[in-house]
Amino acid sequence: MGSAALTDAVKSICDWSMTEGRATLTSPSKAAELFGSLAFSDKEQEARLPKGVYASLRATIRNGEPLDVATADAVAVALKDWAVEHGATHYTHWFQPMTGITAEKHDSFLSPTGTGSAMTEFGGKELVRGEPDASSFPSGGMRSTFEARGYTAWDPTSPPFLRVDSNNVTLVIPTAFVSWTGEALDKKTPLLRSMDALSKQAVRVLKLFGSRAKRVVTTCGPEQEYFLIDRNFYFARPDLINAGRTLFGAKPPKGQEMEDQYFGSIPERVLACMADVETELYKIGVPVKTRHNEVAPSQYEIAPIFENANVAADHQLLTMEMLRRVAPKYGLECLLHEKPFAGVNGSGKHNNWSMSDDLGNNLLGPGDTPHENMQFLVFCAAVLRAVDRWQGVLRASIASAGNDHRLGANEAPPAILSIFLGDQLTDIFEQLEKGAAKSTKAGGTLDVGVSSMPKLPRDAGDRNRTSPFAFTGNKFEFRAVSSGQNIGWPNMVLNVAVADALGSIADQLEKATSGGQDLKSAVAKLLTQVVREHKRIIFNGNNYAKEWEKEAGRRGLLNLKNTVDALPELIAPAVIKLLEAHKVLNEREIRARYGVYLEAYTKTINIEGQLMVLMANRYIVPAALEYQKQIGQSVAALKSAGTTSVQSKKLLAKYTKLVDQFKAQTDALDALLAHEGGSPEKHAKYMRDKVVTAMAKLREIGDAIETLTPHAIWPLPTYREMLFVK
Ligand code: ADP
Ligand code: MG
Repeated sequence: MGSAALTDAVKSICDWSMTEGRATLTSPSKAAELFGSLAFSDKEQEARLPKGVYASLRATIRNGEPLDVATADAVAVALKDWAVEHGATHYTHWFQPMTGITAEKHDSFLSPTGTGSAMTEFGGKELVRGEPDASSFPSGGMRSTFEARGYTAWDPTSPPFLRVDSNNVTLVIPTAFVSWTGEALDKKTPLLRSMDALSKQAVRVLKLFGSRAKRVVTTCGPEQEYFLIDRNFYFARPDLINAGRTLFGAKPPKGQEMEDQYFGSIPERVLACMADVETELYKIGVPVKTRHNEVAPSQYEIAPIFENANVAADHQLLTMEMLRRVAPKYGLECLLHEKPFAGVNGSGKHNNWSMSDDLGNNLLGPGDTPHENMQFLVFCAAVLRAVDRWQGVLRASIASAGNDHRLGANEAPPAILSIFLGDQLTDIFEQLEKGAAKSTKAGGTLDVGVSSMPKLPRDAGDRNRTSPFAFTGNKFEFRAVSSGQNIGWPNMVLNVAVADALGSIADQLEKATSGGQDLKSAVAKLLTQVVREHKRIIFNGNNYAKEWEKEAGRRGLLNLKNTVDALPELIAPAVIKLLEAHKVLNEREIRARYGVYLEAYTKTINIEGQLMVLMANRYIVPAALEYQKQIGQSVAALKSAGTTSVQSKKLLAKYTKLVDQFKAQTDALDALLAHEGGSPEKHAKYMRDKVVTAMAKLREIGDAIETLTPHAIWPLPTYREMLFVK
């Protein structure tokens, strides 16, 4: 079986290289032409909308001003015409329920009339509001099935686009998803609310510095890590199909220890697939820019140019979807799970985050002499305060069964949140702690030592790859975010945390300056205070080191090692107060999410446990018994030939013992899974403490059996095949 999948995989590579893919590589001029060609972009809006309508739509998009009914009607007409001209027959409100994936229900533009003809019908009403049956989405108890009403509400700030498939075209309209009572049932609504909250507080601070800015948006550039493996292997692995990760699999002789994969040459079939994904993303206006090999074999990364965080979150979801949708065309399957393979790196999503005002200034841009850049230092200090004060809920925002395999597993950032500032900024903040900052450490130049090569400008500090939250020049990078999750959620938490810190800073500075103190000395005092209060969150060293865990403990930083420990942070009284004060989520909405995420954890572990039992009983045990029989027959044959082999007998004993242990452990896991009930908390804890432990034990024995079983008998594709046949 394993070898059958291998033969098919080799065949699919050959098939591909003879036929597909080569024509999809896109030249820069073609890419420019394609970019946004399937999106109802700014350019398209300007060309198609009456001047006044266009202006009020822009005011909504740029400044968050409310949109009136007449504008919505006019936009709907232009949008429909544009979509129908491009062949669209249907439209869908596209939304982000609490499941973590996206949802859509398609409606036709056509409505049959009594006379048998058909006419298109799509007005402001249809654009602005949709009504999917909400009862089948998780609501965390906010909506019982007899109150099934949920509405999707058009998000005018994220451009609609066309989904083009082989025989159909659909207009996709990004929407928020709310209940009949107006409570958020999704991940977009809280993100949008948090961006409003941050803007409000940031504008207060900017005003103190004499800025005319009216609005601040958070910007985001998420780097997506993923695996691509041959689809034939995928189909031969029930665990990959149903859990997204391998639950068994012995470590191959070669993993990532040669460090020859990161930034390595991209295999041809993979590159063709990437190019196709990028082309499709260009068309719908997703500005993808970077591609490269990642650290693990068969692991890659795709990153866009940053955008407004709301649009970035939509585009990030579309990037994941496009990777999944395009890969099969190349005989590949895209794995977005945080840890598809044990023993090699898992996947994350580096969430680059900053704030930008409506005059185009990046508020985290330090300039050449950051020590003089008071405004920059204040915004930077706000992030320090935010991450230190709200480390618990930030940790909770990235918690999931999948991410538990990554955080703290010596390859990804630890579960402890801390901030890397780099030498230059750390030096400035150290000066500030003592009073005032008088200088900025310069980077100077770097001499390569080859006379023909120019001297290179050098950054003032080295990079740090181990920090969960790093300042990287003009933005912060939240690296503990997981590969499979919707970035809207952690960005929402980050926005509110920073809004809160900015609010406290604005309070203090407003009070000082209205009491007659000059801004400069008020800021100096504030910065010194912030550093003294929050310097424990700054850590520039190696976050993987055991020493750091101890040091972080001494500093009183939280170390929430898994989802079950982290999630309660979301419902801490201070967090509920924070989210309510900034009008981002009310207590019911928060508790609903807590319930949904806790249940998702329990369900995930339960599915994985059941899959392991299934694979053990129906794949591994039968194969193992077959080999056991073969060894037994060989021992018997030797005996009847009047000879004996010590090694054969030893092998038989060893193998039989393993198989016995394996079957016993399978039954033990099965019995554990039959356990029911208790509160959701108790059940989740039980899963973590009992089931996850039993799964690990079963895997260990299963992997030991794999290393002894003949390739021809082993029923599953191996790590060596899945990771190295490209
Ligand atoms: P690296 O992390 O490898 O240094 P880059 O500097 O290329 O990477 O940036 C990584 C990501 O950060 C890209 O998606 C980029 O668009 C994004 N980014 C750059 N500036 C900002 C910003 N001001 N706000 C948010 N994201 C940003
Ligand atoms: Mg990066």
